Amino acid sequence: MEKFVSIERAIEIARQTPPQSSIETIPIQESLGRILAEDISSKVDDPAFDNSAMDGWAVRSQDKTRIEIGQTSAGEAPTKIGPGEAIRIMTGAPIPDGADAIVMIEDGLQGEARPHFIRRQGENLRAGKVALSKGQQMTPAAISLAATMGHHTIPVRTKLRVAVISTGDELVQPGLELSAGQIYESNSYGLCALLEKIGCEPILYDVVQDSLDGLRKTLDSCDCDLIITSGGVSMGDRDFVRKLMEEEGQIHFWKVAMRPGGPPLFGTWNGTPLFGLPGNPVSSHLVFQLVVAPWIAPEIQLFKTIQVKMLDAVNGAPNKVCFRRIKISNENGIMVARTHTHQGSGNIHSMVAHNGLTILPPNTNASIGDRIEALWFND
Ligand code: AMP
Ligand code: MG
Repeated sequence: MEKFVSIERAIEIARQTPPQSSIETIPIQESLGRILAEDISSKVDDPAFDNSAMDGWAVRSQDKTRIEIGQTSAGEAPTKIGPGEAIRIMTGAPIPDGADAIVMIEDGLQGEARPHFIRRQGENLRAGKVALSKGQQMTPAAISLAATMGHHTIPVRTKLRVAVISTGDELVQPGLELSAGQIYESNSYGLCALLEKIGCEPILYDVVQDSLDGLRKTLDSCDCDLIITSGGVSMGDRDFVRKLMEEEGQIHFWKVAMRPGGPPLFGTWNGTPLFGLPGNPVSSHLVFQLVVAPWIAPEIQLFKTIQVKMLDAVNGAPNKVCFRRIKISNENGIMVARTHTHQGSGNIHSMVAHNGLTILPPNTNASIGDRIEALWFND
């Protein structure tokens, strides 16, 4: 087991036990958020034929005057024109043989002939061109592109089935009454949403109380590709995830040099990969985004790295990279960052009130006016 590793090393260690998924072929309309398992090339030229980008007339640009001899709409076969002739044409209709320009309807039949209003065959994509790459996540535009290229089904990675298990005697499902000392369980809901966002199938388990037996029983009952637990991985007597994994599982790393999020672990339970995330809500969220997501789907970028100018001062952390929550905005062309809420790792509101994170190297602070690297959430 390696202890207190960098984020990069944590991902590297975990990747030695890679996620086990296979390939399935699914209809494109069910593919939102899924990860492409193969490169996809176009079956056709796009556009498939020269066609009009405008409503107007298809004309020969050298003609000084024109007469209209007919009309053509999208879906019809190409027609043809001779000298002095024009054909009324609708957007998307094939360009008639002999025509080399479009006159816009607004300009009238004798108006200016504009060659660039012809969309040329293959100007977007040539048949055979790979336009969607293996590992890419399917977005609405990618789905539309797959259809444009003639694909009704696509090969994607099977959804990783992920058990999400919260641990802690204090946890109560939201919606129920709280007794003294209890709090609402929130981590598993955020983690399930993060899993869905990167194309996985979360399986939400009931909260497990702080006991070795209860935890062992739940872990043994998991039939999944990955187990994610939250809570119980620190040094405390009641940190049973760490204890059980130490005594009866296998731990590959424990503790990452990051704040928030210090004590996560990765290992296997009966051969199934297991990430043990810390219980503090910001910590579990960040460890997922910075360590677990890159293990599951390295190609998915949940953030962009940018430079920001700090408009508030923030403190870093000894020996750890420090991710303070910041609100990034563009002020007069400069990307600036402010902090708005308490930065505690228990404050999940800080992840909603802000849209980015500082990347403060170990043992550094940022003063007002400093330019620093930051992570900017994509949404
Ligand atoms: P732990 O990592 O179990 O020591 O928990 C650290 C802190 O996070 C404690 O204040 C817990 O009450 C809190 N916590 C643990 N699990 C959850 C959860 N699933 N939802 C919300 N807070 C949690
Ligand atoms: Mg706990």
